[in-house]
Amino acid sequence: MRRSAEVGIVGAGPAGSRTAALLAAKGIEVLLLDPKTPWEKPCGGGLPAALFDELSELEDLKSLARPVHRARVALTSRPAIELALDQPIWMISRHTLGRWQLDRALQAGAYHERVKVRSLSRSGNGWMLETVSGPVTVSHLIGADGAASTVRNAAAPDLAVELAPTRVAYPLGAGRTPDTLVLQFDRGLTGYVWDFPRLDHRSVGIMACDGTWRRAALDGAIDEFRAVHKPGPLAAPRRAGAVIGTAQLGHGDFSGIAGDRFALVGDAAGFADPFTGEGIHNALRSAGLLAEAWEAGVDELAQAYAGLAREAFGTQFTIARLLRRTLGESGLGVRLVGWAASSALAYSFVAATLDAVSGKTSLSRFLARWYGTLKDARAAAA
Ligand SMILES: Cc1cc2nc3c(=O)[nH]c(=O)nc-3n(C[C@H](O)[C@H](O)[C@H](O)COP(=O)(O)OP(=O)(O)OC[C@H]3O[C@@H](n4cnc5c(N)ncnc54)[C@H](O)[C@@H]3O)c2cc1C
Repeated sequence: MRRSAEVGIVGAGPAGSRTAALLAAKGIEVLLLDPKTPWEKPCGGGLPAALFDELSELEDLKSLARPVHRARVALTSRPAIELALDQPIWMISRHTLGRWQLDRALQAGAYHERVKVRSLSRSGNGWMLETVSGPVTVSHLIGADGAASTVRNAAAPDLAVELAPTRVAYPLGAGRTPDTLVLQFDRGLTGYVWDFPRLDHRSVGIMACDGTWRRAALDGAIDEFRAVHKPGPLAAPRRAGAVIGTAQLGHGDFSGIAGDRFALVGDAAGFADPFTGEGIHNALRSAGLLAEAWEAGVDELAQAYAGLAREAFGTQFTIARLLRRTLGESGLGVRLVGWAASSALAYSFVAATLDAVSGKTSLSRFLARWYGTLKDARAAAA
């Protein structure tokens, strides 16, 4: 096993593997530490079309994912509304994504050790990582170890990250998966139930932002959903749980995500969207921002990275927090979904919101979509 490296990256999810690939391509000695990857991390696996527009290197991934063009949005025990998505959402298994990304990192020259980092401490000019197979020393440390990050807890304990609990069931062996993704809202839930069709199975899960739902209640909501939305005989689900990490970064101070010879990327930095819980896109983007900041040199790295992250994510997080307060926590979003079955205005607003959050579109595009859908819905009703 390798005992030292210039850069040690803890975690080989989307953020860690892409960071490894980009830094190794610069000729930097990179060691990725992750005991599980590639693995089926509990996740919806939904990738917005905007991600492929932004990162052309991901084009090959499309053949391993499933594009979904239709959404059904529902309230518990009420008829659902059907929407055509402006751009598809691509559904992928996390094992498939992890394998693809790890291969790219290894091809670029990064090393991977299948070990868990138990603890870490400063050592001289770098860091000492305690792993289950002994110590590893690195000059630079990158925390890409997800929402409950060990690296963040040790290197940046003041960075407050909110952890939203989730549960997932992967219904297998149920034949062909549906062509439509489903989002279901409930009056007592700041969050949602999702049903995402992948190539050969479905990811059905629930996210509860406010942390008041316990595991049994989350599993119960999934079972209730599955009983209604079964495509055939119900296979026993494979259950898993995880948290989604969002920091209180807003527009403001991103300085906590990096410091002397360390940086955090992806969920470890709290980069998941506080409204939707999506984080793969931002995890991949943060890897690119860190690689770009590397050019600033060791002394300027932390400041350069924090600045790039603020520029890239500041507005998105501010809008997402606003949407969460106005649509999620207030219950207005649930009421809008209820009205959408009978009101063209509410229907078109829900359609435009779904496109905006999945496609990360601009305000003008949101308004154009709202207006266009409203016109079509009124014409169809006339
Ligand atoms: C149930 C659920 C559903 C979601 N659905 C979506 C979705 O549909 N679309 C979307 O965009 N986002 C979704 N997300 C968010 C998405 O999963 C994360 O934002 C994304 O995976 C973050 O990538 P990451 O690389 O930062 O961390 P992760 O993907 O969490 O990877 C972290 C890696 O670090 C490793 N690790 C952890 N601790 C250690 C340690 N001590 N030592 C070594 N290795 C370690 C883990 O094994 C793991 O491989 C969902 C999240 C959850 C929980």
